[in-house]
Amino acid sequence: MDCQIPAALAEGWELSPGGTMLRYRHFPVKHAFSTRLGGVSVGPYATLNLSNSVGDSAEAVRENRERFLHEADIASYWATVQQVHGNRSLAISALADCAGQVADALLTDRSNIPIGVYVADCTPILLASVANQRVVAVIHAGWRGTAAKLVAHTVEHLCQSYGIKPKELLALIGPAARGCCYEVGSEVVAALRQSDPGPAVMTHEPGWVIQEHDQLRVDLPLLIKRQLESTGLPAESIQTAGLCTLCCSDLCFSYRRHGKSAGRMVAVIELSS
Ligand SMILES: [Zn+2]
Repeated sequence: MDCQIPAALAEGWELSPGGTMLRYRHFPVKHAFSTRLGGVSVGPYATLNLSNSVGDSAEAVRENRERFLHEADIASYWATVQQVHGNRSLAISALADCAGQVADALLTDRSNIPIGVYVADCTPILLASVANQRVVAVIHAGWRGTAAKLVAHTVEHLCQSYGIKPKELLALIGPAARGCCYEVGSEVVAALRQSDPGPAVMTHEPGWVIQEHDQLRVDLPLLIKRQLESTGLPAESIQTAGLCTLCCSDLCFSYRRHGKSAGRMVAVIELSS
């Protein structure tokens, strides 16, 4: 399966002119979901691998980061922590707060500190509030984090820490492994079902579990959208890019498709001063 770009992108989303990033046109905060286009890396990292932890040349990664940051109009390298598929979120007020930390979500109310997560199939989620208190968050949610209700936990953390309400939040769900391709075992579906807020909070969405013959597939972005709604975000405040990283391999790195040495993309968000 190969998807057609930009036809597969949902309404309101766009690929940047240089191709290094996707963004949602109407989002009020500076943000970017990187792609695999427009970089200098070769082999499994071609071309815009942004991670130094997958065996790519450091020089290529440095150049790729510069190109991406330039196009995203972000001045400095993003704050990041060690991601472990857990359900911990970390609020930071300085870059140094990330040192030695393990978490799968970052929050901040500070300007000019870009925060980011690395992904290749896992779902990247960005949250922002611009109403009263300006705050942002970035989340890395694979199936384990989703099953552990990381997203709902992060919304709660954000609201409690900064005195805002879920209904003030806007959310973007980036490219990820989706229901067309993301095959899992029944134990994964069982774990995810525990985190499903249930039909009572949702309207007319298709199911996030797809069963065909003896194959099970899941659509994490769809389940994550349900989880976000269950915390109090209005449905119209949640935008999903629509792309599947597994079948949109021209545009996205995929751990499932390319293996351990797959390049990594990032999702970044930054409050401007
Ligand atoms: Zn797919």
